[in-house]
Amino acid sequence: MINVTRSSMPEFEEYTDEIRELWDSRWLTNMGVKHKRLQAELEAYLGCPHVTLYTNGHLALENALSALNLPEGGEIITTPFTFASTTHAIARSGFVPVFCDVNPEDYNIDITKIPELVTDKTVAIMPVHVYGNMCDVDGIQATADEYVLRVIYDAAHAFGVSCRGKSSACFGDMSMFSFHATKVFNTIEGGALCYAGDDWVLLLDQLKNFGIGGQDDVEYIGGNAKMNEFQAAMGICNLRHIEREIGKRKIVYERYIERLSGIPGIQLNKPQADVTPNYAYFPVVFDGYKYSRDDVFERLKENGIFARKYFYPLLNACSCYKDFPTAGAEKTPVAARIADRVLTLPLYADLALDDVERICEIIRD
Ligand SMILES: *Cc1c(COP(=O)(O)O)cnc(C)c1O
Repeated sequence: MINVTRSSMPEFEEYTDEIRELWDSRWLTNMGVKHKRLQAELEAYLGCPHVTLYTNGHLALENALSALNLPEGGEIITTPFTFASTTHAIARSGFVPVFCDVNPEDYNIDITKIPELVTDKTVAIMPVHVYGNMCDVDGIQATADEYVLRVIYDAAHAFGVSCRGKSSACFGDMSMFSFHATKVFNTIEGGALCYAGDDWVLLLDQLKNFGIGGQDDVEYIGGNAKMNEFQAAMGICNLRHIEREIGKRKIVYERYIERLSGIPGIQLNKPQADVTPNYAYFPVVFDGYKYSRDDVFERLKENGIFARKYFYPLLNACSCYKDFPTAGAEKTPVAARIADRVLTLPLYADLALDDVERICEIIRD
């Protein structure tokens, strides 16, 4: 059986060595030594002034929205071609998700369609670097500057990606990474906010720990979103091997490209100019191919290969958003077309090239 992904892990002994001192200190969570070390190592690796760690990426997004202190009930422009977390973070924080269409080149927000969605209630843009493809970061910043909007990137897919030598962590007001087990870099569950604004460091540290500032007061009505020491230890181990893992992904990725390019009706993810990728996902769009996406999905499944229909359904087509005035997949026709045709093939560092060959043979029949 081959799943769409398989978690990267260090050698067992490397992890047990890393967590041994937790048995001596009995300090298991609440910003201990592992948490501090991982934070510093990520700031260095990502070249980002500030990294705040979280127990998962979703709560990082919710904390970003609460730290920015945006007007209640405001509208946030985002795309429906993403994981549920992006839209949910907006809605659960009391904002209204406004769905912008994507462009067919990189499946990211189509910046030419943002201005027509801006109203006097718009407070922010939350774009997603889908599949690790970088958004048009300059275009988005120019739009945000023109309309005075905050920009929070959902960079869950973009760990290790850089654009003209600048890390994906360094754009917008804040960027969120997910360190979930299925992502390129994992801390089992986990996430981070990356940002340059010095003012947010203390606030975010408090918000993820019930809003507690010191011994004598609770300043904010915060939740609990702390990363624990075992998660941080896994991150320290996995970060040691991140370049090798991305390198192994690249080999698998390139074999897919070799076998699937030039086939009529099969569109592959296009490389982006000036971007160093992380080979996080291998999306294939079946448009005008002799078999439909669902046919290919089923045939792979019969062979024990579990691809995923990422991202289908669109968030603006999901029942939980049906009562939102912005719902309706027909309002984002490009995203709707891709969502009906896209399949994400298995891709992970240890995927055998023989398996890639087999997957491609099934697709080509
Ligand atoms: C994984 C993911 C998240 C959420 O991350 P968790 O760490 O699982 O909470 C958010 N957005 C996108 C696009 C994701 O893929």
